[in-house]
Amino acid sequence: MKGELLYSGKAKDIFATEDEHLILSAYKDQATAFNGGMKEQIVGKGKLNNQISSLIFEKMEEAGFATHFVKKVSETEQLNKKVDIIPLEVVLRNYTAGSFAKRFGVSEGIKLSRPIVEFYYKKDELDDPFINDEHIYFLGLASPEELAYIKAETRLINAFLLDLFGQIDLTLVDFKLEFGYDKSGKIILADEFSPDNCRLWDAQGNRLDKDVFRRGLGDLTEVYQVVLEKLQEVV
Ligand code: UDP
Repeated sequence: MKGELLYSGKAKDIFATEDEHLILSAYKDQATAFNGGMKEQIVGKGKLNNQISSLIFEKMEEAGFATHFVKKVSETEQLNKKVDIIPLEVVLRNYTAGSFAKRFGVSEGIKLSRPIVEFYYKKDELDDPFINDEHIYFLGLASPEELAYIKAETRLINAFLLDLFGQIDLTLVDFKLEFGYDKSGKIILADEFSPDNCRLWDAQGNRLDKDVFRRGLGDLTEVYQVVLEKLQEVV
């Protein structure tokens, strides 16, 4: 089933399978931040993120979103449709936090009256720069129609996830998505959805996401475990 290693990322290894249109994503016990400047092995993280992401993608598939998710095949692995990734990090923000708060000199936790969608160009050697739609057309990363679809889909996914996390009393502050082209050229949601690429705050303002690692606030697996258990209550 597991073929050659196609790509080794910061959080996942990607393997070929017998089916040329499917890949196996193996979640690693590694946490990184600041474009790899901060790196640590965290036992159990891969398993938690594979479980959390599988559960969320299953719910999104059930709700009719087009994604790369096929099935979870082991504690740390899932089967995904092979996509040609669009090198864009699509960030949606419901509240100010992180780089947004820093860039605009505002405090964290301000509710945005309309969620804001941002784009970053996925290119490690450039440190993933902040870019706008016109830069995206210049770079040939997506057409205006494709970008309109990506933005609209991201807002719909946000509405769906706000409801899901609302059911477990967690505030979805922001998140990052990645999209890719499937074998027929259709744009589908790819990558993962876990506390590695979103911010989740509980009613007391505790952070249940990668900021625990980035900011040294405690034990990352403990808070990811809380997110998983809460999600399991509602699915
Ligand atoms: N994010 C991500 N990968 C990145 C950068 C950001 O998954 O390379 C996520 C991050 O976890 C957060 C959201 O995108 O949920 C917005 O991140 P931000 O721009 O505030 O940057 P950060 O403060 O995380 O550096």
